[in-house]
Amino acid sequence: MRQKIIAGNWKMNTDLARAGELTTKVITSINPMVSKVIFFPPYPFLHTVQEAVHAKQEFATGAQNLSNHEKGAFTGEVSAAMLASVGCQYVLIGHSERRQYFNENSDILFAKIQQALKHSLRVIFCCGEPLEIREGGDHIAYVERQIKEVILMLDPEEVTFISIAYEPIWAIGTGKTATTDEAQEIHHAIRKQLEAHFSDNIARRISILYGGSVTTSNAEGLFNQPDIDGALIGGASLHAEEFVQIISFMESVQA
Ligand code: PEP
Repeated sequence: MRQKIIAGNWKMNTDLARAGELTTKVITSINPMVSKVIFFPPYPFLHTVQEAVHAKQEFATGAQNLSNHEKGAFTGEVSAAMLASVGCQYVLIGHSERRQYFNENSDILFAKIQQALKHSLRVIFCCGEPLEIREGGDHIAYVERQIKEVILMLDPEEVTFISIAYEPIWAIGTGKTATTDEAQEIHHAIRKQLEAHFSDNIARRISILYGGSVTTSNAEGLFNQPDIDGALIGGASLHAEEFVQIISFMESVQA
């Protein structure tokens, strides 16, 4: 069966001391049996977080971004090879904040995925519609286009290194969440799209996470949906107790 994933995107928050403290609190509070728990700290804290989790197989670190270039004169950029060299195993690609504030289009996202795969980094590819698209009822077509322009361009053997996070933009950091039915509807549509393009076997193996104001109040209902395989969590991942509680909901869905 596919991997259950709980991912914490810290965005541009924490400092070195707090990053270490938060990681230690989480990894000493829970021993996940079925979920992979991935911390996405800011770049400067990746090594510290990685040192804390490296002996525990059920935890991993990921980067929030990477360069679409291999190496060279790209001041301020961080390459896939650098991330791999500090033990990073995952990378977020296509987060709506990167698309919106840094103009990352599908071509750039595809190039970033190529870099990640070349250096054996697993990818969590984010997609999701803005509010006006949801209100106009075009959300499924919108997300399918985002998947088509990047994920369907990959080879079948490459796509097995990808997980997808459906994150409606109107739900990120706003306190609004998609209902369990709204989330399930679109997760199911994504899985059907993967099935039609690749195969039933591939579609069944790709984890599809939900993201957008996931908290202890709504996580359980979301995790009980058949096509929701975990969560990408922003705000709540900065609070150890809350994050641990969300992990435990994922664990109990499996039991
Ligand atoms: C995110 O950063 O991907 C996210 C979903 O944030 P939040 O949980 O705060 O809405």
